[in-house]
Amino acid sequence: MKTLQAYRFALDPNAAQGANLHRHAGAARFAYNWGLARVKAAFAQRDAEQSYGLGGDALTPVPWTLPALRLAWNAAKRDVAPWWDECSKEAFSAGLDQLARGLKNVTDSRRGKRKGQRVGFPRFKKRGKARDSFRYTTGAYGPADDHLVTLPRIGRVKVHEPMGALTGRLAQGRARLLGATVSRTAGRWFVSFTVEVDREMPGGPSRRQRRAGPVGVDLGVKHLAVLSTGEMVANPKHLAGSLRRLRKASRAYARSKSASAGRRQRVARLARIHARVAHQRHDGLHKLTTGLAKTHSVIVVEDLHVAGMVRNRRLARAIADTAMAQVRRQLLYKTRWYGSRLIVADRWYPSSKTCSDCGGRNPSLTLADRTFICPSCGLVVDRDLNAAVNLRHLVAGSALETENARGGDRETALARQVPTKREPGTARADQTGSAVLSRTAARQRLTHAP
Ligand SMILES: [Zn+2]
Repeated sequence: MKTLQAYRFALDPNAAQGANLHRHAGAARFAYNWGLARVKAAFAQRDAEQSYGLGGDALTPVPWTLPALRLAWNAAKRDVAPWWDECSKEAFSAGLDQLARGLKNVTDSRRGKRKGQRVGFPRFKKRGKARDSFRYTTGAYGPADDHLVTLPRIGRVKVHEPMGALTGRLAQGRARLLGATVSRTAGRWFVSFTVEVDREMPGGPSRRQRRAGPVGVDLGVKHLAVLSTGEMVANPKHLAGSLRRLRKASRAYARSKSASAGRRQRVARLARIHARVAHQRHDGLHKLTTGLAKTHSVIVVEDLHVAGMVRNRRLARAIADTAMAQVRRQLLYKTRWYGSRLIVADRWYPSSKTCSDCGGRNPSLTLADRTFICPSCGLVVDRDLNAAVNLRHLVAGSALETENARGGDRETALARQVPTKREPGTARADQTGSAVLSRTAARQRLTHAP
């Protein structure tokens, strides 16, 4: 089966190449802004025409799609950008493409075809504020060898780490390049290849996966994840240090005077640390999701309201929420690669307020409570572990099992009911997670028994 994958590498361009990369990103931004101005002008023109009583085909057309924008650009580029020949035409195309997508999002959002918050009209990109990026989709771009990338009109650029994983697949004919995006994050250039890869997809879980059974995953802040097996997956090694530096840098930034040289330095520093944190989390999350998808037959995660959560003020929470979205996206394809299944629990499923042992509820549990105490059976258990086990219980509900057996891209378990009640401590042998929890629970009940 063919799947899409991305391979991202940091670049080490020399000074001339660096300047050229900047020029190409500038060209993409220029085309984007030019197109946006053109669209806005066309709208103004139509308004005027309508006020004269014109309508229908007599009105000035708005170049709303990529082909229309390209046509307009090619007719105008000699006048508006006499330097256009200095850059690859792909750069301008990338800017126009980005604009066309932005415009389409606006239309889709207004017609209710797009989820989430209403999408605003595209805005002009300011130099230095907007992200520097451009894209190649045609031409002779790609890895020249394990350490060099060919970028048309820029040259052969050194890559920071070897690209063996990608070049190997390309050489064997098991992968096909579809595009390359060059972008700058926190002062560093990256190239990201979109690749179509041929993959053998297993029809179902292996014996090993079936033996390990389903697993519930609760993503956290203190730990990267807590599994229903009782395993706490630690955060990546240096993340705590980076987070500390991040908080310090944020404070320094907040205290600096606006538009000062000091502020510019602090912005750059803040961006560098942000990029490092993102990178460290990214690495940790990939290890986690690969491990889960390879080891277990079914993985149950919680749904989340991404649009609402991203605006969270607390840094740690915001990072955890982003992680949640990434984990889901990664599990979606990795479960297919490795023959396991993904279940996304309904976001109203009370995974944290329900007792994972007796099904009783503790509605008074607040976000600050790190420990779940069951008012019915006296279970005392780590809050995240309780949530993870509840998620895992979703698989035990047979209705869900059949619903998911039908397959589909995203399996959302609409489980508003609490898990089936069980006698405490009667975990079945096939339920690794429950068995572990029950032992933990029993131990804790000895020390915390009311
Ligand atoms: Zn209970």
